[in-house]
Amino acid sequence: MLIVLGLETPRLDVDNIINKIEKLGCTPHEIPGVSKLAIGITGPTDTLNEEDFNLMPSVQEVVRITKKYKLVSRQMKFDDTLINVGENVIGGKELFICAGPCSVESRDQIFEIAGILKELGIKYLRAGAYKPRSSPYAFQGLKEKGLEYLDEVKKVFGLKIVTEVLNSVSLPAVAEVADILQIGARNMQNYSLIVEAGQYQKPILLKRGMSATVEDLLLSAEYILAQNNYNVILCERGIRTFETSTRNTLDLNAVPVIKKNSHLPIIVDPSHGVGIWDKVPAMAMASIAAGADGLILEVHHKPSEALSDGYQSLTPEQFKLLLNKLKELAPVVGREIKL
Ligand code: PEP
Ligand code: MN
Repeated sequence: MLIVLGLETPRLDVDNIINKIEKLGCTPHEIPGVSKLAIGITGPTDTLNEEDFNLMPSVQEVVRITKKYKLVSRQMKFDDTLINVGENVIGGKELFICAGPCSVESRDQIFEIAGILKELGIKYLRAGAYKPRSSPYAFQGLKEKGLEYLDEVKKVFGLKIVTEVLNSVSLPAVAEVADILQIGARNMQNYSLIVEAGQYQKPILLKRGMSATVEDLLLSAEYILAQNNYNVILCERGIRTFETSTRNTLDLNAVPVIKKNSHLPIIVDPSHGVGIWDKVPAMAMASIAAGADGLILEVHHKPSEALSDGYQSLTPEQFKLLLNKLKELAPVVGREIKL
């Protein structure tokens, strides 16, 4: 349920509504908007009646939220959520462009790639220190050493770090270095990890599970918002289908569907979505045309030597060409790329 109030509502009226919600055994969430103030209600809302609030001072409207997810829904919050990462904003006019290797492989490797990306004007570096690999025999990441290198790179180049957290044991160390905590496709429904990660109040990049519906993704995000962390960036990264000519099927339908149903930013990972480097630029362009708020892309200075996902990684030259095309496309869809 949602209670809509004017922006100038006296604090006393807001507090009275909040107290009443708590008294009725539910949880209030204050949601400031551009033109209205809203108080979202979660919990056993089936027991509530619109009349409980309709006649209270300052209440303009009482709306029942019909979706399973509540706080992430656009019914609950109409305005797009903007996420601040230092001086940068995600979800506004400026597109979020994050690039880097799949994994941190060595100090030299991450310094080399970070230097190239910095030179191109990129602000966000992606790289995994802990890697969730399908095979137990594949490279599992440099772990603590990888985090150390990421921390160094962050200090030297001033790049914001996007890196994945795999479990609650390594969460404190990962959160120390990460500016944005990545929850990977395989952990999208690991609700205890999501809740713990959300408690750090850092932005969470929540990737769609490979067999998850859009509703599953939004319900996972709801776990984070339910503890008052609204800093969630959703990510479409391809789903499993019967198609075998690409690694996954990039479900770009998800972009407009999510834009309609949620106020959270939605970005796309065409690298994992396609899995083959030469198809990545086309799907990156298509993602922005579809309305995505940004991209996360795998870029490696020597893809043929990469310890993970080399086949889907762009070289810096290919990435630069893509950036030039994206810069032309962005204004066509009302966006901008600042490098
Ligand atoms: C990754 O970003 O390298 C990764 C493992 O992604 P996903 O969780 O989407 O497979
Ligand atoms: Mn990868």
